Amino acid sequence: MKSKAPRQTVCNIPTNDPKDPYCGGKLKKISDLDPEAKKAAGPGKDVFRCQKCKTLYVDESPYALAKK
Ligand SMILES: [Zn+2]
Repeated sequence: MKSKAPRQTVCNIPTNDPKDPYCGGKLKKISDLDPEAKKAAGPGKDVFRCQKCKTLYVDESPYALAKK
C-alpha cells in the first residue's frame, strides 16, 4: 500500500517499458474495501486502487481525516 499525494489522480509505479516509464493507471476510490485493507490503511482514510496495476493507495490528505 502506497500513500497518495493530495492531488495525485494517476498511478506513478515505474514500469520496465522505456516508452511508458510509469503505470499511469487511474486511481479509483474503493468503497467496498475489505476489513484487512481498511485496518492497514488506518481509521478515516480513503483507499484508492490503480485501475491498471491494482496497486492500493492511501489518501494522506488531512481532509480525509476530517470526514469520518
Ligand atoms: Zn498502476
